[in-house]
Amino acid sequence: MPKVLVTGGTGFIAGHCIKQLLERGYDVVTTVRNPDKGAKLVTALTTSSRGKLSYDIVKDVAQKGAFDEVIKSTPDFDYVLHTASPFHFNVQDPVKDFLEPAVTGTTSILEAIKDNAPAVKRVVITSSFAAINHGSDKKPPFYDESVWNPITWDEAAQDKTKAYRGSKTLAERAAWTFMDTARPHFDLVTINPSLVFGPAAHLSSGDLDSLNTSNLRILHMIQGEMNDKLDPTGFYSWVDVRDVAIAHVRALEVPGASSNRFLLLADYHTNKRIAKIIASMGPQLREKLPANLDEEEDDLPPPGERYLFSNKRSIEVLGIEYTSLDKSVKDTVQSLLELGA
Ligand code: NDP
Repeated sequence: MPKVLVTGGTGFIAGHCIKQLLERGYDVVTTVRNPDKGAKLVTALTTSSRGKLSYDIVKDVAQKGAFDEVIKSTPDFDYVLHTASPFHFNVQDPVKDFLEPAVTGTTSILEAIKDNAPAVKRVVITSSFAAINHGSDKKPPFYDESVWNPITWDEAAQDKTKAYRGSKTLAERAAWTFMDTARPHFDLVTINPSLVFGPAAHLSSGDLDSLNTSNLRILHMIQGEMNDKLDPTGFYSWVDVRDVAIAHVRALEVPGASSNRFLLLADYHTNKRIAKIIASMGPQLREKLPANLDEEEDDLPPPGERYLFSNKRSIEVLGIEYTSLDKSVKDTVQSLLELGA
């Protein structure tokens, strides 16, 4: 079977990508920072899989040449999924914590493949809706794959609130620039997901402290942290992690995906809508949420003030059938409860 390298295997999205690849019979090598986490991941994801999973260590994607050894030691990869990149809100230094790992990680893997992995046919990079969406200060009414976040390195480096969004934009730009200038033997696809919810396939019981950033609002709701009042929704579009993983796998397989970006966005959500779904799951969860849930504000901006979007390319080219918010939230809650929430 074809062999796939997946970077950042301990991540939320990568866990589901690996699961889907193994179910389809691909052999997968994944990179992790920590060998204990790598061993745990192999046990967790290979129980009933058809394909084989192993891991290799890449300590820090911000180091130039970070992927050279991994790729030189297994030069017969057919495909690469690059997901490893920081996503958290604990920004100390925008350059060191975000921009360097995102951008250098991306260019390092592309260079390593170009120089050492002649069998690679396609590379799929997990970019983000953050590389499309302009943020709150410049809001065009419509987002699709033709739109780019105009943020610059200096803007992202000087403003902690823009560090993550800048890192995703500049990393994706660096990838497409590499394709234009280096003209390698493989082609490129980027997946640009909105905020991702879904079960945490990459974690085992007791690992709740390592929960990924985008599931935190659901965790906080079921732990009673919004018991008095729901937090403002803030970022109000979303997609389920299983749809994101299918998109990565189809992006490898579908010839017509070549050289495209794919915006993955199921719909709008609000914290009130999520809370109502959680409340419907039973009295023990209901009591963790505000008593007057019906009176909480549904803070989705009205039509005309919120952006519009098109997810048409993901449906037509990758065949994505978007999961409903109801299913996504219920499955996420179930998974968090199993992890000890
Ligand atoms: P996670 O935090 O769960 O996964 C991030 C992965 O990257 C982990 O495996 C982490 O390793 C690894 N990583 C981070 N920094 C480094 C580094 N310096 N060196 C080596 N490995 C590193 O996040 P997600 O799964 O949510 O995100 C995966 C990708 O998807 C990212 O590129 C993110 O930007 C993108 N994305 C996520 C969205 C979301 O809502 N979740 C939305 C849009 C895009 P470790 O486990 O050791 O920390």
